[in-house]
Amino acid sequence: MSGSDAVGAVMKGLEGPLLDELTTFYQDLHRHPELSFAEERTAALAADRLRAAGFEVTTGVGGTGVAGVLRNGEGPTVALRADMDALPVLEATGLPYASTATTRDAEGRQIPLMHACGHDMHVTCLSGAATLLAAGRDRWRGTLVALFQPAEEIAAGAQAMVDDRLFDRIGTPDVVLGQHVFPSPAGTVLVSPGEILATADSIEIRLYGRGGHSSQPERTVDPVVLAAATVMRLQTVVAREVSPFERAVLTVAQIHAGHKENVIADEATITLNIRTFSTDVRRTLLAAIERVVNAEAAASGATRSPEFRTLNSFPLTSNDAAATEKLRDAFAARFGPERVTEMKPLMGSEDFGVFGATAGVPSVFWGLGGADAEVYARAERAGRLAEDVPGNHSPAFAPVILPTLPAGVEALTTAALTWLNTP
Ligand code: ZN
Ligand code: ZN
Repeated sequence: MSGSDAVGAVMKGLEGPLLDELTTFYQDLHRHPELSFAEERTAALAADRLRAAGFEVTTGVGGTGVAGVLRNGEGPTVALRADMDALPVLEATGLPYASTATTRDAEGRQIPLMHACGHDMHVTCLSGAATLLAAGRDRWRGTLVALFQPAEEIAAGAQAMVDDRLFDRIGTPDVVLGQHVFPSPAGTVLVSPGEILATADSIEIRLYGRGGHSSQPERTVDPVVLAAATVMRLQTVVAREVSPFERAVLTVAQIHAGHKENVIADEATITLNIRTFSTDVRRTLLAAIERVVNAEAAASGATRSPEFRTLNSFPLTSNDAAATEKLRDAFAARFGPERVTEMKPLMGSEDFGVFGATAGVPSVFWGLGGADAEVYARAERAGRLAEDVPGNHSPAFAPVILPTLPAGVEALTTAALTWLNTP
């Protein structure tokens, strides 16, 4: 039997009640989003489903991570990965299963929660594929590993799982595979070799001034003016210090200072995020940020040097060329070539690559279309994709369940069976 026959046989399992069950599971996860490293409910549900399917399950890997192993005779070990965390976003999809969940941040403030990046879809699809592959285990040989990873959004969960002896516990896989839902037409998969997602670094910078009365600026060092000058000068870094042939972005996404209109604050905090595909450019950006921030502080007469704190750091996501070609062929055979499109490099970032890089094995990360195909086509014709097809992290991001969910299950199942032995 060839790999694609095995996929067909295994996928038959989705024709029964499983699809309805997965739909309910997805809606439930969507209603109950959890922040990075707080995915306890999600992890418990994922672990339950793996146990029910016959996997050996380890929970609490790197915090809330879950690793399920299904040993099924001689053959390669294939790891499939899904991330579980949600975002502090107020959902505005109007869906009947929209989230109204909230939680408290580190400062005790109430914040909204939403699966605005589709990680609930990733968990559902991996649960579905694990169930199908377990039920169809007479069609393949090898070891299947299902990884439910915490805290992707803060670039910490993959590393936390690896640091918690993940590969000692599950063995070293031969390949690591994962997918992400994007605002592309649902029912399609997007896959390309090489560098597909950027590096990312987030840095918090505290700028120190000297506070005082707003009527007496001469007695102060105004951190608001210092922050404003710093933000503007930082906007010249990509424009003036990075070659136009490179891809880079520097965004100052947060700026905070002061509590009252007649008090000049003591300090200001800015948080910035940089992305690029090149380690050289990354180094240039980091050095320029430090230089500009320190120089602006000196120009303002700040009495204390700014402080820098790295919040998170994502590696480059790069797909192994040979493994990607093998996978693209398998997807084309299963979905038809018209449903397999190129994944253009995105400035977004992922910590998925940590697994393959640490294990020293190839990994492939592909995109799963999640947008209603008609809405997408209409928006594309009208040149209104940005306006009419909400992207990841938008409060309106809402993958259509059909056909996104079954396509995601099928993509993972196909990918796993591309490496597992199919006699
Ligand atoms: Zn995200
Ligand atoms: Zn994501």
